[in-house]
Amino acid sequence: MTDQETLDPESPAQWQELRAQGHVMLDDIFDYLEHLRERPVWQPIPEQVREAFHEPLPQGPSDLATVHDQFMKDILPYAVGNAHPGFMAWVHGGGTPVGMLAEMLAAGLNANLGGRDQIPIAVERQVVEWVRDLFGFPDSANGLFVTGTSMANLVGVLAARTAALGREVRHQGLLAAHRQLVAYASAGAHGCLAKAMDMAGIGADLLRLVPMNERYEMDVAALAAAILADKKAGFSPFLIAATAGSVDVGAIDDLAAIGRLAREQQLWFHVDGAYGALAMLAPELAPRLEGLGLADSIAFDFHKWAQVPYDAGFILARDGRLLEDAFAADTAYLKRESRGMAAGSPWPCDLGPDLSRGFRALKTWFTIKVYGAEQLGRSISRTCELARYMSRQIEVMAELELLAPVSLNIVCFRYRTPGLDAAGADRANAEIVIALQESGIAAPSTTTVGGHLAIRAAIVNHRTRTGDIDALLAATVKFGDSRYSPR
Ligand SMILES: *Cc1c(COP(=O)(O)O)cnc(C)c1O
Repeated sequence: MTDQETLDPESPAQWQELRAQGHVMLDDIFDYLEHLRERPVWQPIPEQVREAFHEPLPQGPSDLATVHDQFMKDILPYAVGNAHPGFMAWVHGGGTPVGMLAEMLAAGLNANLGGRDQIPIAVERQVVEWVRDLFGFPDSANGLFVTGTSMANLVGVLAARTAALGREVRHQGLLAAHRQLVAYASAGAHGCLAKAMDMAGIGADLLRLVPMNERYEMDVAALAAAILADKKAGFSPFLIAATAGSVDVGAIDDLAAIGRLAREQQLWFHVDGAYGALAMLAPELAPRLEGLGLADSIAFDFHKWAQVPYDAGFILARDGRLLEDAFAADTAYLKRESRGMAAGSPWPCDLGPDLSRGFRALKTWFTIKVYGAEQLGRSISRTCELARYMSRQIEVMAELELLAPVSLNIVCFRYRTPGLDAAGADRANAEIVIALQESGIAAPSTTTVGGHLAIRAAIVNHRTRTGDIDALLAATVKFGDSRYSPR
């Protein structure tokens, strides 16, 4: 590079050109959001589009406009489609135009939120205060943004481990503790909890999966019995991870009873509230989360029910010092001061695994300020209302049956296939789901409920309406009938 050469435009005329192209790009993505409904939710990806992403490393420059054209042609149409109102697969948020704009501002500012004295960190701490109050945590609470609940659960497990074994475990490792730690979660818990136990070096099998009751909630009596049996066998129980909003059916464990048991047994009480915890924003759902405020830590995502663009996971600990115990480390190049840019300790890098961190707080702060907690809460309530509507429709449709009670916003059902055995019924329903996804009309996913393959609609997107539910159900019956049963 010459002394003059940077990656920015060089002259006012070039800045003007870039600005004009930037406005085109902004308009294109606004057009996409405004006219989402007219598009398929998802579409199969043509081979030549896949091939476009195996080009050699570009040595020379390309026009921004040309690269943007490729984005519009080859990338935008082939995303998974979770912004679309017909998307009900897995548990994905829809995003908002406000979140998108905030993300653009964050990228322009390019703040690194690992630490240092800067207002972007005050924005993150503002979000900490909001959720601390929302969940009924004391002033001692602290937390931070991470990629998602998978990472937030890992942070929770590591904090619980350090609280159980002391800070020495960070230096000497688990073997030096001479105690085999063991944790508990519901059989319906998300797989990332077992993965967190694995990554923490404790071992995935040391997460005991406690049976569920008929409402798909952790059986608290079975939990108490498992803890007792493990203690007798010489294990060291240290953590209970309850679920608020299970991934299969949307069940909420009895947080109050589990919280009391954890206190009695002096175990860390963690809640995986990936999407469910933010039901606290909806006044008629909040009572269902009674006991959430007893938690030692809560993992949740702003990118699901709160509609913040990916990614925006969060971990909140009741006592922020315990996060520092688990993560803070002394290094010469991160030395703190009481004035200047190195002030403002503790820094977010003292509370979690990451040093360099993006400004996820900004899109979350914008989303909460612009829409307000009430409107976000209403959109959460609305998805549950739609799930109840959907279950009522299923109950009156002879071709369909519900496979699990609708607790929140997730509906598990299937197309009836009289005459087919269990494996045949599962295969038929799996094929219906693929046909639905390929049709672009609606996109549910599958799970297994009570040993049956279920068509699973997780209604998370604020854009989904009754018409989208009707379209999904009608297409399910159509694809089912055309393949299986001239009833
Ligand atoms: C989505 C989800 C997770 C995983 O969260 P990510 O943000 O995808 O890492 C964990 N637990 C539950 C209950 C979930 O719904």
